[in-house]
Amino acid sequence: MAKYIFVCGGVISGVGKGITTSSIALLLQSSGYRVSAIKIDPYINVDAGTIRPTEHGEVFVTDDGMETDQDIGNYERFLNHDILGMNYMTTGSVYLTVIQRERNLEYNGTTVEVVPHIPHEIIRRIEYVAHATRSDFVLIEIGGTVGEYQNLIFLEAARMMRMRSPQDVLFVLVSYLPVPPKIGEMKTKPTQLAARMLNEAGIQANIIVCRSDHPIDIARKEKISLFCNIGTSQVISAPDVDSIYEVPLNFADEHLTESLLAQASLPVRTPDMLTWHTLVETIRGVTKPVRIAIVGKYFQTGDYVLSDSYISVIEAIKHASWKNGVKSEITWLNAEEYEQDPSILANLDAYDGVIVPGGFGRRGVEGKIFAVQYVREHKIPYLGLCYGLQMAVIEFARNVCGMSDAHTTEVNAATPDPVIDTMAEQVANIKEKRLGGSMRLGAYPCTLTPDTISARAYGTESISERHRHRYEVNNAYRDRLANGGLVFAGLNHERDLVEIIELPVLDQPSGHPFFVATQFHPELKSRPLAPHPLFIAFIQAAIAKREKSA
Ligand code: GLN
Repeated sequence: MAKYIFVCGGVISGVGKGITTSSIALLLQSSGYRVSAIKIDPYINVDAGTIRPTEHGEVFVTDDGMETDQDIGNYERFLNHDILGMNYMTTGSVYLTVIQRERNLEYNGTTVEVVPHIPHEIIRRIEYVAHATRSDFVLIEIGGTVGEYQNLIFLEAARMMRMRSPQDVLFVLVSYLPVPPKIGEMKTKPTQLAARMLNEAGIQANIIVCRSDHPIDIARKEKISLFCNIGTSQVISAPDVDSIYEVPLNFADEHLTESLLAQASLPVRTPDMLTWHTLVETIRGVTKPVRIAIVGKYFQTGDYVLSDSYISVIEAIKHASWKNGVKSEITWLNAEEYEQDPSILANLDAYDGVIVPGGFGRRGVEGKIFAVQYVREHKIPYLGLCYGLQMAVIEFARNVCGMSDAHTTEVNAATPDPVIDTMAEQVANIKEKRLGGSMRLGAYPCTLTPDTISARAYGTESISERHRHRYEVNNAYRDRLANGGLVFAGLNHERDLVEIIELPVLDQPSGHPFFVATQFHPELKSRPLAPHPLFIAFIQAAIAKREKSA
């Protein structure tokens, strides 16, 4: 019988429910339990794939091809194991199942109602994950903040689960304690109100995680204990830290695991965090910088710059940098600026490596192609991810193979040289507007070409990587591109698709120190304890460039 821990947020959004959930999951896993984690997004979109990155952040793709929330990525990075699509649900996906079932007459003529049928479907999904993953603990992170109309139905499902089996269902409230600058004192009232709002939904928190700039003191722990109806040992201090990977260690110091296990009527164990300690020591120890630029477009939200759109790329850069004993300094460069003023391309010289990440549509495309041309010609290490491969192929076709109007049909359907073209099975999807969850999604095998940068980096011939795209290298152009010097370093043989392109290494004609681009998203599989081989090789090339120019 599995235990369930629901994690919900209070006061404000974005305080770190995802990292809290991941950290608790890691602590329990490190205490010898089998753990899985579920993310619930309380919106109508059936999956995260149809939401723009500046609004929602990155779309994280699982091995089985579900387009999920970036928190699933956090769970994978902390737990160091794969998580499947069943661990993700939205309001829309739950309703869709219930409505489809109603259409199939599966409710035997009864009235189908929001309560209990929607909570029952939510509970069915949660219990299914516990069963399928044979977990001792399942964490369920409920998106949004308590008190919102949107997530009430999920809290209702959680309440029903607790009612059925009180000792098996626990609640963690992740709250925020502001220190208003003019007052200079950490305030607990918003947390008290959040705990009370949870009470209104029939739920008493077992743990309150107190997020703040600073650690929470005893006086405030006692206040929260008194007003929120829990013991002081259940009030956890969670101050800001330099690296998210420090959070589990802080929770361990606060004896969070012991408190949870005791409340779940399980024997108290202390997690073995040795490996994680070593990781955090490495993170704290690196000082030598490596400068990486990400040339993209999903940064701006109003006056703020958002890095959430590329979170797995950022994490993958960090993991590989730590592995190589350096500290990455990441800079956002807006591709559109190169279109307005190509002279600023020379600023790319300041970086040790450049990445063009995934993307969609016309905006910023020409700027990205300029950037790829610059790094190719100036021998700056380059890693292209999905759209970053497509941009590299277009650039190569135009500037090396003489096809000056080469393009992707995603941007210019009338191009004379569609070097990137719609995948055959996507033509009908686009025409009939079947656009949700219909890209080439999830893990597919790829065979590496011997003696390439990629084959050397992976150290193996067969790999499996995750995809999310509708367009592909057009096979009709393979010979012309290869004659120009482009290397096809990875292929999917089943479908005869190009998965990796490279330029030859420096000592060969058209050689380059490191120019690799993938149709898949390697960043999705990088973990702090298992950095991705292509990112490791990219960072090594960046370090080499830095040392050469020093
Ligand atoms: N827009 C491109 C495609 O659909 C690339 C997608 C991506 O970068 N994830 O093929």
